[in-house]
Amino acid sequence: MDNKKKIIVAIDGFSSCGKSTFAKAIAAKLGYIFIDTGAMYRAVTLYALENGAIVDGELNQELLIGLLPKIEISFAFNAERGASDIYVNGELAEDKIRTIEVSNCVSKVSQIRQVREKLVALQQQMGQHRGVVMDGRDIATVVFPDAELKLFMTADARVRAERRYAELKAKGDEVTFDEVLDNVISRDNADVNREISPLRRADDAIELDNSYMSVEEQMAWFMERYQQIVG
Ligand code: C5P
Repeated sequence: MDNKKKIIVAIDGFSSCGKSTFAKAIAAKLGYIFIDTGAMYRAVTLYALENGAIVDGELNQELLIGLLPKIEISFAFNAERGASDIYVNGELAEDKIRTIEVSNCVSKVSQIRQVREKLVALQQQMGQHRGVVMDGRDIATVVFPDAELKLFMTADARVRAERRYAELKAKGDEVTFDEVLDNVISRDNADVNREISPLRRADDAIELDNSYMSVEEQMAWFMERYQQIVG
């Protein structure tokens, strides 16, 4: 695939739709870089929790904005996972950002303009040479409105919560299904209704409901669209 033109694949959609799993599989297939932008918002949230900007679920917005210049986010490829791990100020944060505590606080952090400006700039820099698959909430609308291929993923909320619940349980997290379902629904609401860069389908994005599709079926669906664009 080396001689083919490199494009940007932008994948947006609701929480726990399997966007990252799908994006990772596409990146592996095309030899592209996969960038999980949700991990970046989670990383800022983790930093806020660890540095007193979120206490008992309450975000001190001023304090977090003041801390932003001190937060350095980077990625390094982990061959075992077949994807990049995220680092905050040089410290591996991949596992710590996936807890229910971070999930419960991330929507408050992701609605802050200064946080979005910092992370969007970083995402644009990471995709400047194209050849990336980026997943998030505002990739096709804000980060790369010129992406050649835009997907918008949806799936039934209960199906999504079941997937996320199984993932958390497999890692040994003490959560209930209802807690995960509440989190999925409330994050969707917060993402859709926030003032800055709300989650919405770009006019030229193709919708994919993967409630009852395997990754293989999604990949076949994707490759058809990819071939139409790249040839
Ligand atoms: O994708 P993931 O569920 O890990 O994202 C965590 C949170 O980060 C989302 O609920 C959303 O509030 C925020 N996010 C965002 N914009 C993105 C990616 C994620 O606001 N591009």
